[in-house]
Amino acid sequence: MKLMLDCRALTKLLSQSQDHAPPLAIQARMRLHLMTCQACRNVDEQMRFVRKAMQAVRVDPPTDLPAAK
Ligand SMILES: [Zn+2]
Repeated sequence: MKLMLDCRALTKLLSQSQDHAPPLAIQARMRLHLMTCQACRNVDEQMRFVRKAMQAVRVDPPTDLPAAK
């Protein structure tokens, strides 16, 4: 494996790492790439945002909605 990941490899790893964390050696390479690549930092942020939004949707809706005023 190359020491430096290219953007395509990193993006793939980012989406995979949403489900299960990659090995530490891979995580180190990912961090190295993210430090040097603004585009992939943006992708990373977007993925985190989407993941958070998905988790928010999964939360049970409140059973006692405040009455409309
Ligand atoms: Zn990149």
